[in-house]
Amino acid sequence: MYLYNSATHKKEEFKTHTPGRVEMYTCGPTVYHFAHIGNLRSYIMEDVLEKYLRFLGYDVNRVMNITDVGHLTSDADEGEDKMLKGARREHKTVMEIAQYYTDAFFDDCRKLNIKRPDHVQPATGMIDDYIRIISGLLDKGYAYLAGGNVYFDTSKLGKYYVFNEHNEEDLFVGVREGVEEDTNKRNKNDFVLWFTKSKFEDQALKWDSPWGVGYPGWHIECSGISMKYNGEYLDIHCGGVDNAFPHHTNEIAQTESYLGHPWCSWWVHVLHLNTSDGKMSKSKGEFLTVSVLEEKGYDPLAYRFFCLQSHYRKSLVFTWENLDNAAGAFQKLIAKVANLKPDDGPVDEAAVEELKNKFKSGMDNDLNTSLGVTCLYDILKAKTNDATKLAVLDAVDAVLGLKLTEKAAAQRARNAQAAAAPAGFAILSESGEADAAVEQLIRDRAEAKKAKDFARADGIRDQLKAMGVEITDMPGGAKWRRV
Ligand code: AMP
Ligand code: ZN
Repeated sequence: MYLYNSATHKKEEFKTHTPGRVEMYTCGPTVYHFAHIGNLRSYIMEDVLEKYLRFLGYDVNRVMNITDVGHLTSDADEGEDKMLKGARREHKTVMEIAQYYTDAFFDDCRKLNIKRPDHVQPATGMIDDYIRIISGLLDKGYAYLAGGNVYFDTSKLGKYYVFNEHNEEDLFVGVREGVEEDTNKRNKNDFVLWFTKSKFEDQALKWDSPWGVGYPGWHIECSGISMKYNGEYLDIHCGGVDNAFPHHTNEIAQTESYLGHPWCSWWVHVLHLNTSDGKMSKSKGEFLTVSVLEEKGYDPLAYRFFCLQSHYRKSLVFTWENLDNAAGAFQKLIAKVANLKPDDGPVDEAAVEELKNKFKSGMDNDLNTSLGVTCLYDILKAKTNDATKLAVLDAVDAVLGLKLTEKAAAQRARNAQAAAAPAGFAILSESGEADAAVEQLIRDRAEAKKAKDFARADGIRDQLKAMGVEITDMPGGAKWRRV
């Protein structure tokens, strides 16, 4: 497999430190609010990468942090802790906010069929590890104390900028418009490893440390958590592209200085989901969540399908029209899979291998998921029996995660039910009420189901729901009630 590496700026043939095993780390969510569908684009693409590595036969150890402390409103150590801001917004404690949004995040992941990583570690659970690493950095001369905080000294490094040759002036993090300069820093890009002095005295979570009561900087959590669960050599580190600087750059600086050897081989950055107003972001306040998609009647997996249609290294523009197109194509795809007959003969293993190799040839080129999706249609058109096609679809969908065969089986059952319904169609209202508009829609829906146009049938059901009408299918008809 060839995978693009942001650290070397090229596609390279994927190799692991330990043969057959992939140590993989992903920056997790900052749990002060719901994840938006932009964040989830990153997690979907990272999930596909993990599942594809498993498809290739690797044993993958996937680790993720949950940021519940230390991520300030500016990535450059300035501003207020995002968690505190969230707690204040909702009149709850930081820990209540963290638990609530962590659960909400994994709920969204479940709906999008994103696998839970092997290890999920909240940042607040590893304070002793950060203290040990920071002490090590101080002992080795890579860190210094100033104004009560501990800083990493970037001047001690031969190469600090890993991902880009930044213009230093642009990155003068201490001096941004509207942001006070942190005069404790010896160099512009030095960053905080441990805060004891913060402009915000009401920082909710604080721990004792050799340098005073305080809390860790944002970057140290990912270094500490990865070293604990992935060991000293990491094969792949993922995150959205906004994390490349300063977060990942600082992770590399402190981890390699601490370990005394190179740390992570591959850096995989997912480009952003944008709206017509630019990057979708939590701090903007208004953003789209999985729940909003569901309220509007979309299957969350239609959003996953939408993401898979484009490459992770290209930014993706979200519009409702684009999502509608993807949702329509997804529905048609399921209908095609539902038309396959599961028991039409023995599975042709040679054909399975051939089609799986076709899937591989696209995905091996830097995880080209749009070719992976195209391959689904090639499988449907292949000159082989349906049982073989279903076997291949199952294998490749273990990577793409669209639940194709499961959805198709449900669709097949609905098809059978519709075919068994008698010609006459009775409409009953639970209250005995007559409503011509509602009855017409129910009849239209029955027609659509008969014509196997399930997208339209589901659309009509949603339309009725929006009108406050709930329908229940019955043999030979449907009954309805107002809710
Ligand atoms: P956060 O919860 O803000 O720490 O972000 C969680 C993940 O989502 C990080 O990997 C970010 O880089 C990524 N991310 C943030 N905004 C977007 C976006 N608009 N599109 C894709 N990924 C994003
Ligand atoms: Zn991180």
